[in-house]
Amino acid sequence: MTHTTSRYPQRVRNELRFRELTVLRTERISAGFQRIVLGGDALAGFSSKGFDDHSKIFFPKAGETFVPPTVTDEGIVWGDGVRPASRDYTPLFDNARNELALDFFIHDGGVASNWAMQVRAGDTLTIGGPRGSLVVPEDYAWQLYVCDESGMPALRRRLEGLRQLARRPEVTALVTISDEAYKDYLAHLDEFNIEWIVGHSEEVLAQRLAQVKVPAEDYFIWLTGEGKVVKNLSAQFETDAIDPQLVRASAYWHAK
Ligand SMILES: Cc1cc2nc3c(=O)[nH]c(=O)nc-3n(C[C@H](O)[C@H](O)[C@H](O)COP(=O)(O)OP(=O)(O)OC[C@H]3O[C@@H](n4cnc5c(N)ncnc54)[C@H](O)[C@@H]3O)c2cc1C
Repeated sequence: MTHTTSRYPQRVRNELRFRELTVLRTERISAGFQRIVLGGDALAGFSSKGFDDHSKIFFPKAGETFVPPTVTDEGIVWGDGVRPASRDYTPLFDNARNELALDFFIHDGGVASNWAMQVRAGDTLTIGGPRGSLVVPEDYAWQLYVCDESGMPALRRRLEGLRQLARRPEVTALVTISDEAYKDYLAHLDEFNIEWIVGHSEEVLAQRLAQVKVPAEDYFIWLTGEGKVVKNLSAQFETDAIDPQLVRASAYWHAK
């Protein structure tokens, strides 16, 4: 089937910059999430237009000197120094306060997750990007969001945007979590239909998705989570009836 709509998500590019920021405060914002709030002059010009944008966060080892790469016309140039571990996080930018929050899901054995639990006000952190954004119109009549904890910051950002609309779209969010307590992260958004699946069962999620009736038009589907799970579940939306440009499926992490 040929699909056409003038209301496709639009890609925008940002000037790529690496910024050294200072931790202003840390906050246990939810049972499952540690919020790190960053600030500093380097935030000047920060822009994040897409709810599921990501910034790359660098984690040099203790004692390692990290010199961020430079951005040239030919691309990103890394010097001879170490290239530290990096992870992707959803930027939650407060323009009025000039503060950038990152909400880290706390789990076992993660470089980023461990850092978030140890960092203190006054420490520094280097971030890169977002390099580009997918700007997804907010007013599709029917919208489906599927994620686990890793996508909850992006979902939260999206729903906080949607609730400002005069005419609220029909939204269903299917969120899998490993612990009931993590629901508190989205508690202030309970005017939306958020269905929780406690226990990360791919089978239960697949059964629930099989009941979903995507309308013929004016819809948007967002599916994130663990890589294999996203691949399996997104196959359900690869049909002639569904416009692939209105489905956004991305792996947010990989089970090791
Ligand atoms: C576009 C984008 C935006 C993202 N935004 C956020 C965000 O705002 N907040 C957030 O918390 N995450 C977010 N993620 C996911 C995050 O980047 C990954 O979860 C990352 O692997 C965490 O790094 P780590 O160093 O803590 O763990 P790693 O060192 O990568 O992994 C350590 C162990 O933990 C496992 N693991 C990794 N992530 C998870 C998880 N989420 N749940 C359970 N086990 C896990 C791994 O399989 C491995 O066994 C985002 C990812 C993308 C692609």
